[in-house]
Formats: sequence, structure tokens, C-alpha cells
Amino acid sequence: MDLKDLYRDVILDHNKRPRNFGQLEHPDAFANGNNPLCGDRLLVTLRMSGDRIEDIRIEGKGCAISTASASLMSEAVKGKDRAAIRRLFDQVHDLLTRQDATPSAELGKLAALGGVRDYPARVKCASLCWHTLNAALAHEAAAVSTE
Ligand code: ZN
Repeated sequence: MDLKDLYRDVILDHNKRPRNFGQLEHPDAFANGNNPLCGDRLLVTLRMSGDRIEDIRIEGKGCAISTASASLMSEAVKGKDRAAIRRLFDQVHDLLTRQDATPSAELGKLAALGGVRDYPARVKCASLCWHTLNAALAHEAAAVSTE
């Protein structure tokens, strides 16, 4: 199995069985995200412990890329503080937009999203969850849109 097959399997698996799916009751922060180009919608709810994400749930309706990306993100950011999440976001952004980006070990399974950069129309599907997370962390309990 080559790397491309492995990455495709990760995306398919996380689309079929998204991790941390649902809503937290009485979340400390939340945000709604919307990608009108594709029709992806996402709600991110967070339980914070100081600067750290103690728990996260994602819920929404969208394409395979947006669902898998949100699922992968939820696993990657749980337990991490804002500085670590900012670093991850910067690396994911590079991975999605720069052809010469090579995934670091810190990215882990998020590296599976690297193939998305060959489909520029889908980059917003993959980044929606991160923009929504950032909005929740900024305590903007508001809606964000990629447009
Ligand atoms: Zn999409």
C-alpha cells in the first residue's frame, strides 16, 4: 500500500465514522461554520480547561473532505493549548496551500489532507473546521463563512 492509498483510507474512515461527533452540553465556547461553495456546515463546541481544549465535539453536514477534516482536527486538538493549536493550524494551512510543504511528524494523521491541495476548490472544505475552531476559541459565538 503506498502513501496515497493510506491517506485515502484515513479520509474515507473519518468520513464514515467521524470522531467526537455531536454537541457538548453547556459548552464553554462554540461556533458555527459555513462553506457556501460546497454546502458544508459545521458546529464546533468546546469545553476549556484554562488555555487547553479539554473536550470537543463536531457536528454538521458536508462533503467527505469537510467531515473527515473536522474529525481529524477534533482528535488532533483535544488536550492541546492555544499555542499548540496555532502551530498545528499553521502547518495544516501550509499543507493545504503549498505544493512544496512536507508534513511534519507533529501533524500525524492530519497529513492525510495533503492531497487536497491538488484540488483548490476543496481547500475550503478542509479548512472550514479550523476557521470554525478559531472562531470558537476567540469566543465569537457567531457564524463564520468561508465567503
Ligand atoms: Zn465540501
